[in-house]
This record gives sequence, C-alpha cells and structure tokens, in this order.
Amino acid sequence: MRAVTYAAPERLQVERVPDPVLEMPGDVLVRVELTAICGSDLHVWHGRETGLDAGTVMGHEFLGEVVAAGKAVTRFRPGERVVSPFTTSCGTCFYCRSGLTARCERGQLFGWVERGLGLHGGQAELVRVPLADTTLLKLPQELPAETAILLGDGLATGYHCAQLGGVAPGATCAVVGCGPVGLLAVFAAQVLGAGRIYALDSVPERLLLAERFGAMARCGPEEILQQTEGRGVDVVLEAVGSAAASALAFRLVRPGGTIAAVGVHHEAAFPFSPGQAYDKNLSYRIGRCPARHYMEALLPLARERSDLLRTLFTHRVPLGSLSHLRRTKGRLHQGGAAPCRLTLTPLADYT
Ligand code: ZN
Ligand code: ZN
Repeated sequence: MRAVTYAAPERLQVERVPDPVLEMPGDVLVRVELTAICGSDLHVWHGRETGLDAGTVMGHEFLGEVVAAGKAVTRFRPGERVVSPFTTSCGTCFYCRSGLTARCERGQLFGWVERGLGLHGGQAELVRVPLADTTLLKLPQELPAETAILLGDGLATGYHCAQLGGVAPGATCAVVGCGPVGLLAVFAAQVLGAGRIYALDSVPERLLLAERFGAMARCGPEEILQQTEGRGVDVVLEAVGSAAASALAFRLVRPGGTIAAVGVHHEAAFPFSPGQAYDKNLSYRIGRCPARHYMEALLPLARERSDLLRTLFTHRVPLGSLSHLRRTKGRLHQGGAAPCRLTLTPLADYT
C-alpha cells in the first residue's frame, strides 16, 4: 500500500510499504476513506518531538471501512464505516473506566513507532486498529467524512478543552490559538453556553473563521482586559502548546479563573511562577484529550452542525500527490496562507 512515512525532521515521503495484517484477535483493518494532518503532526515535522523511527506511517486522524476483523472482535464487521480516535483504548482498565481513555494502560497513539514498538498511523491506504471493539466508533453512512473525522481528534479535543475549563453558561472565555482545535474550542464554548468568547491568533484569516464560529475576534489582550473591568476572563482555552501561549493565557485569566490547555507542550518550565499562580488563585488544567470518551456524545452535534464544521477544511489532496503535499505543507508551516485543515484521500487517483 502507499503511505506517508517519516524519514527525518522536515522530511516525509509517500512510499510503498507492506500492507498491515491482523496481528491480534482484537484487531481490525480499516481501508482509509479520509485522513488528516493534525497540528500535533507538526511537532514531529519540526523536530520538537523526537524518537519516531524512520519509516513510521504518519497520522492519527482517519476514518474508513472495516475490511477485516480478528476472531475476538464482536462489534465490527467488514463493510462497516468507522472513525478512530487518535489513541486506542481497552475500555476496562482504571483509566478507561474513569473516562480518561487517553491514558489507557494498553493504549497506543497512532503514528508513533519508537524502537520498533508502537502503532503505524492513518495517512495510508490501510491501518491496523488494535482493541477495535473499544476504540472505534461506528458511523452513519450519510455523515460527511470531513465532519466525521473531527470526532476522532479536533472536535473531541476542542470540547475537552472547554470541559477542562469548566465553561459554564455566561462564562467569559478567551481562546488562545485559532487553528482547528482552537476554533473547535470556540465552538464547544458556545455549545456550553459561554457568554463572550474572545479569540486570539496572529493569522487574520483564522480570526475571520473564529467569528463564524461565534467568537469576538477583533480584541487584543489589552481590550479584553479593559472589557472585563481589568480582571481578565473566567476561562482561557489554550490551544497552542508554547511558552508564549501560556504567558498570554496567564495574563488574560482573572483571579480565581481557569486555564485549560490542550496544545502539546514541550517546555521544561512555566512562564509564570508558583508564586504568581498563587497570587491569582489559578486553576490550571492540561493534558491529552480522551477522545474515545467523547465521541459518541458528540456524534449528534457533529451531524447537526456539519455544515459549519466542514468549513474548517481548506485543502484536500490525494495521498500520492507528494509535490502538492509539500507545497501545501510549506504554506501550512509558514502559517501565511492560513489553511486550517489538510485532508488526504487515499482512495483518490494517484496520477
Ligand atoms: Zn491530533
Ligand atoms: Zn484502558
């Protein structure tokens, strides 16, 4: 099959690799209908996250059709359409039972193989899904792929961010970073009844999208502080994962407020001190989204708001179109043209 594989930082390739096979009785194989590039793939691309083996199939966002199921699989049959969260989960361990499927004791992240151990990803024609019964979600055929794929990461993570932040009806929120997850955090905050939602990003096109998703996107930090009588907002939803974003979140949150952070962080220290946090009575919540925990509940919302959600997607290219992919990724990384979401269609014509 063809797949996008990792070679080195800033070097990905589309190459032929062996088809995956059923390795465990709980595995299924999925023929990928649509896969996407996540903001966290960029950490690997830029070399901020290291350890990935060369040859690892990239990607952790995909949906498709079950084409083979192991003997122990009871909930899925070939021909069914499924979406996967970005990690696998067993459904029975302490963490799965308490809803933190992202920390499943047997869980693995798609697209991460290190020293020969781990799982290949979804930017391929076929993907092996272990623990399939408790990982995958069945999809209605009529749900557009570009909406459904958001259940496995972006929408779940945006919603998780708003949940972590404890967004309550009327709460004033600021969303730091308006990539797809930030925009979906705006969306989730609105769904949860937030009052004013301020959106911050350096890319004007993203701010326009944030307005479409229900945010006030023309206020800088100073104006936000002024409009909240100098206090700051009740909740900051931080969807970047950098020291600058943390510092901005800390500046914007009011005393007694909450910062919820879902961007993948790599720094060794906070840009604010424990003393400063104490003086603000800060609540700070952070971590990887347990996407599987949210997916079922978010399915009706995704269906209902599909037309809006699909506006996140700006580029769609066939998997084999490497030169196009490179050009598009170049723009993605420079951040200039503000594409928000790039999807790859493995089933499209490769020529
Ligand atoms: Zn992701
Ligand atoms: Zn588990």
